[in-house]
Amino acid sequence: MLRTLFLLLMLLPTLNVAEGAVQLALEGTSPVTIDEVYHRDGVAYLAVDEVLPVLGLSGSWDSVKHVYSIKTPRGRAQMSPGSQFLRLDGQFQPITNPPSFIDGRLRVDESFVAIHLPALLNLSVYYRNLDPSVEQMPTQSSLDRLFSFLLHKQKPAGVKGLRAVAIDPAHGGSDPGSMGPKGLKEKEVALAVAQGLQKRFKMRLGLPVYLSRDADYSMTAAQRFAAVNNPEVDALILLHAQSALSESSRGAVLFIRPQERQAEDGGGDSMALAVQLSQALNRAGIQVAAIERAPLLPLGKGDLPTVLVELGYLSNEADRETLGQPAGQERLAEALYRGLKAFAKQQ
Ligand SMILES: [Zn+2]
Repeated sequence: MLRTLFLLLMLLPTLNVAEGAVQLALEGTSPVTIDEVYHRDGVAYLAVDEVLPVLGLSGSWDSVKHVYSIKTPRGRAQMSPGSQFLRLDGQFQPITNPPSFIDGRLRVDESFVAIHLPALLNLSVYYRNLDPSVEQMPTQSSLDRLFSFLLHKQKPAGVKGLRAVAIDPAHGGSDPGSMGPKGLKEKEVALAVAQGLQKRFKMRLGLPVYLSRDADYSMTAAQRFAAVNNPEVDALILLHAQSALSESSRGAVLFIRPQERQAEDGGGDSMALAVQLSQALNRAGIQVAAIERAPLLPLGKGDLPTVLVELGYLSNEADRETLGQPAGQERLAEALYRGLKAFAKQQ
């Protein structure tokens, strides 16, 4: 008995306990209360099959392909647990937190329900977290305001080169990001490359590099961007790695914000930085699939030169060779270092 009790006590902290409730509705309909809400790092997760009918949608889980499909007016949207992208119209749409199986059901976070899905499908959605102790989720516009404040270019006129760089190794802690076979995690790849980059800047240029995290832990969006808030930061690199349903997708993809104050040469600074990074990666033998302008939330609406680098695909064998090995991670760090150095020279 004592032993049973002891075992139970040991298990308690790891049990998933649903707590709280949220209200959800399509505009013009009465709100539905969903009371199976799980919290992970302050983020509410809801069962996707409970959310969709409220929004007039339906979906199904394919346990063989490990894919959840949502029927939408724009066609079928697909997502996979652990993946930070929703595939719609043949395009990968980034989402804030990957869907995850919690307590036997596939769950999506509240930003998926309140922001990403409505934005993609042009739905007006009412969402409210009823738990008074939970900070209300920032709306898209207030997050935008936060990021544009943080990512506002602070460089005074006449200052040349880079004074300091901020690097954000994505995810961390209970959020592994994308996963590859054999347990390779995006959060580990991102951190290793970030640290290699930091080491090079410190040793060779004596330049400060601020990492948003220097170990494996979870953080809020505001904590993550504290590194950028340093007035001397003149560039920001966000490091990710992705995972695709098709094993043949490979190569790095660089993202910059869609609009930015234009420099005289016609391109924004983020584009100039992305071009330098892309050339340096190519020279190091790392294939760059594309530079894309995308309204990714962490890129904000500011004008600090900012590039989100998807370093490669954990789902592709050749990419995994680079991403998963210390030598490959060093090669990525060296290439990004050279790209940043070339960008600094150009400034
Ligand atoms: Zn990521």
